Amino acid sequence: MDASVISESIPKIIEWYRDNRRDLPWRLSPTPYGVWISETMLQQTRIETVIGYYGRFMAELPDVAALASVEDDRLMKLWQGLGYYSRARNLKRAALILLEQYDGVLPDTAEELCKLPGIGAYTAGAIASIAYGKPAPAVDGNVLRVLARLTAWEEDVMSTKTRREAAALLEERYPIGHEAGLLTEGLMELGEVLCLPNGEPRCAECPLRDLCLAHGAGEEERYPVRRTRKARRVEERTVFLLCSEGKYAIRRRPERGLLAGLWEFPNAVGTLSQKEALAWAEELDLKPLAVSPVGKSTHVFTHVEWHMTGYRIEAGAAQDRFVWRTPEEIRESYSVPTALRFYERKL
Ligand code: SF4
Repeated sequence: MDASVISESIPKIIEWYRDNRRDLPWRLSPTPYGVWISETMLQQTRIETVIGYYGRFMAELPDVAALASVEDDRLMKLWQGLGYYSRARNLKRAALILLEQYDGVLPDTAEELCKLPGIGAYTAGAIASIAYGKPAPAVDGNVLRVLARLTAWEEDVMSTKTRREAAALLEERYPIGHEAGLLTEGLMELGEVLCLPNGEPRCAECPLRDLCLAHGAGEEERYPVRRTRKARRVEERTVFLLCSEGKYAIRRRPERGLLAGLWEFPNAVGTLSQKEALAWAEELDLKPLAVSPVGKSTHVFTHVEWHMTGYRIEAGAAQDRFVWRTPEEIRESYSVPTALRFYERKL
């Protein structure tokens, strides 16, 4: 791979970014805390969605001390809808460590930042370069796509080795000071608005079009190279909207694993028929009075897909194995994951 093309591209990316940057709230005057929160939210979530969440989060938790002392349920409520809730839990865990060991200030090197929960090489690079001007690259899928096309890279971008190599190649060439942040943001921006995935790069507008090896060969669509991934596991579930005197049953998920600690409607593995759903409720001594279907829904996680079937069950007895709340209380005070939002709307 010809790495000299990366060196030649860097000033062009910075110049292009200075002239074309979008004014996003976390870019106005980047602080280490603001970069940390925004980059954590942006993992797996679209910019348009993050803008609103970021504003609300920063208004309520403007610094490390506020984040460290927020109630867990309130934090989950602020995060509700963003998904991947472990990100929020890690933010608070890291804030507590920052208060105890770093005087409440985020460290300024990628190496030290990586020691905090939830901060990986990408987020550490973003904070160190954007907020502290350190020569630390932040390589995510967008940046990898730009680099892979720019250099016509034949390596599998899904492998950790490729990511490490890309980060190392960039790091050797990184500027320091203000330009370090501009390069990090410029690479991200280029991947988001011009070097688009799925064979739709806008090469005619790209500042790298004269250097880009994939574009030169007319082979933009061949890169980035991806070896096939393992298929997602499909999990069938039956979700129960148990209703008793205007209140619905919810329960907290276990503290570990998928959607840890969030609230959910009772559910069972498998797709139950209406008769089986009735039997399920009878077994729990809920004294079911009526059962009716409420529809099917699918949610795709990174490694698993939930294919869900739902039933509303009028319960004659509100068993205290569940927490019973009105629909308004559930919506206002309990963080129900996006995966179950379809059923929350049916309350
Ligand atoms: S020229 Fe096209 S393929 Fe190459 S970096 Fe720019 S947008 Fe991507």
